[in-house]
Amino acid sequence: MKVPDTMRAAVLYGPEDLRLVDDYPVPRPGPDEVLIRVEACAICGTDPKILAHGWPNQPPYGQFIFGHEYAGEIVAVGEQVDEFMIGDRVVVEPHKGCGVCDNCRDGYYTTCLNYGDNRKGHRHYGFTVNGGYAEYACNHISSVYKIPENMSYEEATLLTTAATALYGIRRAGGVNAGETWAVFGPGPIGLTAVALLRRLGAGRIILTGTRDERLSLGKKLGADVLLNVRAENVVERVLELTDGVGADAVLECSGSTKAVEDAVECCKKNGRIGLVGIYEQPSQVNVNKVVQWNISMCGSKAEGERSVAQVINLVKANPIDFSLLITHTFPLKDIHKAFEVARTRAGGAIKVVIQCQL
Ligand SMILES: [Zn+2]
Ligand SMILES: [Zn+2]
Repeated sequence: MKVPDTMRAAVLYGPEDLRLVDDYPVPRPGPDEVLIRVEACAICGTDPKILAHGWPNQPPYGQFIFGHEYAGEIVAVGEQVDEFMIGDRVVVEPHKGCGVCDNCRDGYYTTCLNYGDNRKGHRHYGFTVNGGYAEYACNHISSVYKIPENMSYEEATLLTTAATALYGIRRAGGVNAGETWAVFGPGPIGLTAVALLRRLGAGRIILTGTRDERLSLGKKLGADVLLNVRAENVVERVLELTDGVGADAVLECSGSTKAVEDAVECCKKNGRIGLVGIYEQPSQVNVNKVVQWNISMCGSKAEGERSVAQVINLVKANPIDFSLLITHTFPLKDIHKAFEVARTRAGGAIKVVIQCQL
């Protein structure tokens, strides 16, 4: 297949100024990069924020292609690449560390100390360099993974989401057999967390949220107990369900600071709390309780430490039906409509996926 010189892309020209362009140059892979024909790119919760305000260290307006949850087929490889071949079906992860800073050398590339510094080799696809709302995208091979044969490109866009959930679980100490986990927030990360916890051996999974449709989807993915925070007191109910002891671990995915406070109140002594949400306000956590109860509370940045690879290997053995979360798909030409649906959550939108070849 011949790669064309120009492509269709959704280019950010300024705050709230997203334009479809038909003559954007197709990028050419560097020595250790691959060129991907993007088949699907999902809208993430951060994308409407990028659309509204831009992103620190982003490419200049008028050139910036965002979108970071994408999958497609490799159509060209750089001269040093022997890890991938033309025709491979792949998904990307957005973070590629510089590889030389202390954090990258320790494996923590999602918190690279050279964030945003292209010259040092750092890349954050769809944030500080171009991403996937286009017909083609170039990625360094350390950000690319082969996907299972039977997985659609649309479903593959959920792998980074699931990897973000998995990283939160890992940062919160992983799962011990039979434990009780509370997951706060049935968004895409919370819902994939439920599916992962089920497969990792959690005994009981309690899912909390405000929307009944999303909670019942959580049930399909493996939650045992659903708590609607509008109707029930989550702290009281979790304590009741655990004989007053509290959950072994809490994964906070809702982004509500009240939920972080609740996590401390319904976590057991020696329990763990993983924080995955995006918090816009400071919280009033009972810090002394964290200390006196020996609680481990851990932030978790994105899909770190090759969590995408772990999720792929896990779902090969024990599939997760990611299609349950994909409520809407739109062709690239309708990207404005897609953002509208994602923003307003019209029609119960959970994950909205752009099909970039249509
Ligand atoms: Zn994202
Ligand atoms: Zn680094």
